Amino acid sequence: MLFRQRYIGLIDRYKDRLPVHDDTRIISLGEGNTPLIRLNNIPALLQKDVDIYIKYEGLNPTGSFKDRGMTMAVTKAVEEGSKAIICASTGNTSASAAAYASRAGITAFVLIPEGKIALGKLAQAMMHGAVVLQIRGNFDAGMQLVKEVAEHTPVTIVNSINPYRLQGQKTAAFEILEELGASPDYHCIPVGNAGNITAHWMGYSEYHKNGIVNTRPVMVGYQAAGSAPFLRGAMVENPETVATAIRIGHPQSWDKAWNVQKDSSGWFDECTDKVILDAQKMLAEKEGIFCEPASATSLAGAMQDIKTGKIPEGSKIVCTLTGHGLKDPDTAIKQSGGEGSLITIDATLDSVRSAIMDHY
Ligand SMILES: *Cc1c(COP(=O)(O)O)cnc(C)c1O
Repeated sequence: MLFRQRYIGLIDRYKDRLPVHDDTRIISLGEGNTPLIRLNNIPALLQKDVDIYIKYEGLNPTGSFKDRGMTMAVTKAVEEGSKAIICASTGNTSASAAAYASRAGITAFVLIPEGKIALGKLAQAMMHGAVVLQIRGNFDAGMQLVKEVAEHTPVTIVNSINPYRLQGQKTAAFEILEELGASPDYHCIPVGNAGNITAHWMGYSEYHKNGIVNTRPVMVGYQAAGSAPFLRGAMVENPETVATAIRIGHPQSWDKAWNVQKDSSGWFDECTDKVILDAQKMLAEKEGIFCEPASATSLAGAMQDIKTGKIPEGSKIVCTLTGHGLKDPDTAIKQSGGEGSLITIDATLDSVRSAIMDHY
């Protein structure tokens, strides 16, 4: 008989490990269960004997890992009777909040930094009918405002300071462990507010504590050089980077992430915008995997540390790709030479044939 169990979403999948009840109304779009793709070509280009896996979180319903946390946050908000949710966002949280709010039939208010959000993310928030408040300020200013306004207004914050967000996001670590059958040696991940690195460590630790796996990975968090408070050891007032999703100077999970670093014997490092964009292009060109700039920071950083030997040969490495490349078409087209670099020809057989021969 032909049968494949329908995948309903990560809350259903991990019900016994998440704070839900049997009668909880689950707000889901089928998030999670993302591919773990082993890189074929890049390790050879690095001339290093390493095993690199990509956890392709861009394949979640709204195109980023935020959906893992949002299904939990919105499910609990609805369970607790909330009629509206609110977040500050560099883009992906607003897209996810907007989608899950419309699914639940409640209102999403999103605060985004004017002019600093990738086009795809803005399109999503608008399309799902969120109330989009563009502020003349950056993410950190928006986050501060959200915290203050939520004290006096009946809205539930769905940023990663909402503990249900991290509960949902820890399931990415479960999936990795189940698929590899053991812990990777290193887990490399982009860091903005540092909620996701914290959530992954929670997930790894939960399976470790329950004896499902014997070891846990070394957690390595990478930031963009212009926006790297964990490297500076202090908040950054005017963060700047092409990787807008991690353009954050005041990480909300500051203490938690330092604990992850200590507990896992890991480290933080930074990548320049150029190195980030090169890694994004390399993934797209050499492996067929398209992620947004911030996401490529994990592989960019891993490659830096593989080259220096800080991540030694023989290692099994997982890099999280946090968001889909289609989120930020402007940056993608720009770094592929711009629309001016397209080959324009007459609509004739001769022109097509000679263009093919020119590039064969
Ligand atoms: C939110 C986000 C991050 C940063 O995650 P944190 O939990 O804030 O550290 C990285 N990349 C993308 C694409 C994101 O949307």
